Parts: sequence; C-alpha cells; structure tokens
Amino acid sequence: MVVLMDGKALAEEIKGELRGRVSALKRKGVAPTLATLLVGDNPASRVYVEGKRRDCAEVGISFRLYTFPSSAEEGELRELIHRLNEEEDVHGIFLQLPVPPQLDPRRLVEEISPQKDVDGLHPYNVGKLWKGQYDPERSLLPCTPRGILRLLDEYGIEVKGELAVIINRSDLVGKPLAKLLLDRDASVLLCHSKTRNLGERTREARLLVSAVGRRPSFVLTAEMVGEGAVVVDVGMNYVSGKLVGDADFEGVSRRASYLTPVPGGVGPMTRVMLLHNTLLASEALEGKG
Ligand code: NAP
Repeated sequence: MVVLMDGKALAEEIKGELRGRVSALKRKGVAPTLATLLVGDNPASRVYVEGKRRDCAEVGISFRLYTFPSSAEEGELRELIHRLNEEEDVHGIFLQLPVPPQLDPRRLVEEISPQKDVDGLHPYNVGKLWKGQYDPERSLLPCTPRGILRLLDEYGIEVKGELAVIINRSDLVGKPLAKLLLDRDASVLLCHSKTRNLGERTREARLLVSAVGRRPSFVLTAEMVGEGAVVVDVGMNYVSGKLVGDADFEGVSRRASYLTPVPGGVGPMTRVMLLHNTLLASEALEGKG
C-alpha cells in the first residue's frame, strides 16, 4: 500500500512552530517582514502573491507588496530593491516570477542582498550551496528543494547510497535539489526533455522526483516507476480546470511505496518554506542566527 506524504498537514505543523518564533522576535521588538515585488498583470502571479500574503498573515509575518505596471523598467525595480536592501525593517525580498520580457530576472535577483534573498536564487547563495559552504538548517536555500527534503525527513526516507532521479534541470527545482541530495550521499541523475530512454533511467530510481508540468504531452506513468520507489510529484498541471501532478496517480500509486499527492504534497511545503526562509533571514539579520 502506498503511503501518501501529507505536505499540507506537515506545512500546518511547521506554521505552528514558525508562529512561536515570530512571536519571540516580536517580543524583542523585531517584526519579521517580507517585501514582494510584482510586475505586470499575470493572473497566476496575482494568485500566488495573494497566497503569500495570506500565508504571512497566518504566522504573523508582515507582508508588503510593491506592484509595477507591465511596462516597468529595470532601473525603477533596481532602485526599489536597493532601498529595501538598506531598510532595516525589511528582512526578506521576493521577486515574483515571471517578469515581462524587457526585464532580465537574473539581473534583478542579483540586486537583492544575499542576506534577504528568501528565494535562495542569488548567485552568492547558489555558489555557497554548490561549494558546500552552507548550513542545511540556517542558510537560505530554495524553497521547493528545502520543502521536499523536510517531507522526506518527516517520513524517515533516507537517500544515502541510493539512486535519485530528478526529471527537471531548472535553477528553482532540479539543480539545487540535486546538490542537496548529493550532500546526503545519494547518487543523482538529472533528466530533461532531451534525455533518451527516460523510462529506463527513471525505473532504476529509489527516489524519483518529477517536475515537468507539461500534461498531456508528459505524464509520469506507472511503467516509468520502479517497484517500491519513493515518488515526489512536483508538477503542476491544470486538466479540465483541476490541479493535478505529473504522475498518473492511480497507476503510480500501485507501484510506489511513497507518493506526494497534488494538491497537498510539495505545494504547501514550498509555500511554508518561504515563510521559514523569511524567519531565518530575520533571525540572522537581527544577530540571532
Ligand atoms: P521548467 O523550468 O519549465 O522545467 C521543466 C523541466 O521539465 C525542464 O528541465 C524540462 O527539460 C523538463 N521537461 C519538459 N518536457 C519534458 C519531457 N517531455 N520529458 C522530460 N523532461 C521534460 O519549470 P520549473 O519552474 O522547474 O517547474 C516545473 C514544474 O514544477 C511546473 O509544473 C511547476 O509549476 C512545478 N513547480 C511546482 C512547485 C510546487 O511548489 N509544487 C514549485 C516549483 C515548480 P528542458 O530543461 O530540456 O527544457
């Protein structure tokens, strides 16, 4: 019988812990604050940003939203980021992606102070991760990989000596997750759209992570999953208006030992890790980290 890894319940539990830490900081006169920059009118981005506002409110983190029209120029955004970098009352800065085509998201992320980079995407933080100069508990690590590791820990899943296969090579998911799993002594294989014989590769995995989000052209089928594998489904797809993962849920449930549902698996863990990172940044900036 497959065990469904309940990210929603775990995220709620973590929110409880975070609430306590936020209160402790507030008693010392520090109000953890996340500043979010939203450019343009992408409806999905608006939904995500409102979700962040609610999440912050739930644990007592102050949320500031800065909106810009789709025509915004890099200079305006840079100026705001520099101001927020200097502001002592702001602990985390988050740039909602994607941004309109005239803006280069990588250049903008580089402007964010690495100490306030709660997405963990600044080259300084990425470099620290790849050099192994990071603290798994206290450094600013990208939210989705951090959430996945926390979920694996909760279910006592160890990867040491095992083959982990990740179908994704993005900066947000595949690459940082690969390094974190490598540091837990897994052997890691990153697969992508050009990988030949994908099913042969994935069937070997003890831990299989799928983050594609291209249904119906890509579905993680039961045949691609080894018997008893742990399957982490990161993909977000809308099928007939309903959110589903990459996995053929029924089929994969029959082969996997553990599986993350969509919704209710990785998504809530990613969201709560942004709060977690904001708190880490607040504690570190206040000299308590
Ligand atoms: P992305 O940059 O588009 O990455 C998609 C990856 O899938 C790429 O590496 C791509 O390969 C690979 N791919 C595409 N088609 C494939 C195929 N037919 N076979 C094998 N690999 C294929 O997107 P992302 O930002 O990393 O996000 C990926 C998915 O995860 C999306 O559905 C997103 O919504 C979801 N996501 C969810 C959460 C969460 O919290 N639940 C967080 C982050 C992302 P190439 O590199 O060759 O193009």
